[in-house]
Amino acid sequence: MVERCLGCAACAAVCPKDALTISGGKPEFGPECDDCGICAKVCPTGAIEDEGE
Ligand code: SF4
Ligand code: SF4
Repeated sequence: MVERCLGCAACAAVCPKDALTISGGKPEFGPECDDCGICAKVCPTGAIEDEGE
């Protein structure tokens, strides 16, 4: 979960929709997010997980 987030912003950098912003050291998903899952794959700590489970 997001507790593991390091605030590295790698997820925000790869999001094709610019939906992710780092706010207070944690990722925040904007309405543009289409759940493509790319950000979850690049996160070094696995802080982002599929929410649709
Ligand atoms: S799931 Fe896709 S669209 Fe949503 S924040 Fe991650 S990279 Fe961006
Ligand atoms: S890639 Fe993972 S650790 Fe880095 S800012 Fe995003 S959620 Fe946090």
